[in-house]
Amino acid sequence: MNRVINFSSGPATLPESVLRQAASDMLDWQGSGMSVMEMSHRGPEFTEILSTTQSLLRELLAIPDNYAVLLLQGGAIAENAIVPMNLMGLTGSADYVVSGNWSLKSMQEAMRYGQVHIAASAEAHAYHCMPAQETWTYSAKPSYVHFCSNETIGGVECHWTPDAGDVPLVADMSSNIMSKPIDVSRYGLIYAGAQKNIGPSGVTLVIVRRDLLGHALPITPSAFNYQLQVDNESMYNTPPTYAIYIMGLVLTHIQREGGLSAMQAHNQAKADLLYDFLDHSQFFSNRVRVCDRSRMNVTFYLRDESLNAEFLSSAQAQGMVQLRGHRIAGGMRASIYNAMPLSAVQKLRDFMFAFEKLHA
Ligand SMILES: *Cc1c(COP(=O)(O)O)cnc(C)c1O
Repeated sequence: MNRVINFSSGPATLPESVLRQAASDMLDWQGSGMSVMEMSHRGPEFTEILSTTQSLLRELLAIPDNYAVLLLQGGAIAENAIVPMNLMGLTGSADYVVSGNWSLKSMQEAMRYGQVHIAASAEAHAYHCMPAQETWTYSAKPSYVHFCSNETIGGVECHWTPDAGDVPLVADMSSNIMSKPIDVSRYGLIYAGAQKNIGPSGVTLVIVRRDLLGHALPITPSAFNYQLQVDNESMYNTPPTYAIYIMGLVLTHIQREGGLSAMQAHNQAKADLLYDFLDHSQFFSNRVRVCDRSRMNVTFYLRDESLNAEFLSSAQAQGMVQLRGHRIAGGMRASIYNAMPLSAVQKLRDFMFAFEKLHA
């Protein structure tokens, strides 16, 4: 067996120990005689898996009791519609901060469900920075203020918690959830697809303050009504059982590694390694404002873009894959989520150093 170093932006690399555990549980989970995939979602075995996963989420993220935790289907793109369907009924409008392609998409989807006001935008800066808090302007009565905590495509991360006053703050945390500790009490709602930092695709985490429930627009499909899902403990429809089980294994792994402060130190060390190298290079460059650089998605460009294909094929020959940037951004992108080891990032840095020397 020869596993590659996978810099994919998502679905992304998982801890090898998690994959081994899943392989050994495949035919018979803990003496149940069943694969997790074959279990009734209401049976005792899966009930235990779900409650363990929920407790780990609550413990690792220190989620207060006045927040509900939902594990749903649909992914973050579905949440772009589900969030306004559930919350826009509060006042009929919402404010959006546009810091890149993901938050732009969120904003465009929300326009179908009510009045949308752009609170701030980095479009004029080609989405190479996070709009500073002092540039955010709120409308008179928004139901919530939405932002994306990490723009996966541009490699722009919000390293501070925005202040929306009394208005609920809503965050798409798909690509930096559990990469560092956060103060959940500062948010009204957090959503994240699992496939970057905390599991496989197919399960979406929604953390919602309970007082925001109960305002869904009448058109909201039942399966996407947060109140109904809370009342049914994420089981109004069949939850993505196998993805939840893998998420549980990933969370156990994070806990064993020392929790979210350990993840933060680990992620900072990896990002520093690449950005330090990029800043000293004559050959590669990063375009993001220094204070807004993502610790999850390191985007970079070759000065001579005619060497892009050679760069990718040489990396591939050394077992490093998925370094091509998103088609919107071009260039390169190394996604270095929780599960990416420091040694793999060192290997990439060494490869880039050698590639630069070869073409100097
Ligand atoms: C990956 C990603 C999405 C899209 O998630 P889907 O699972 O395709 O719905 C949305 N927002 C952010 C920030 C992402 O990184």
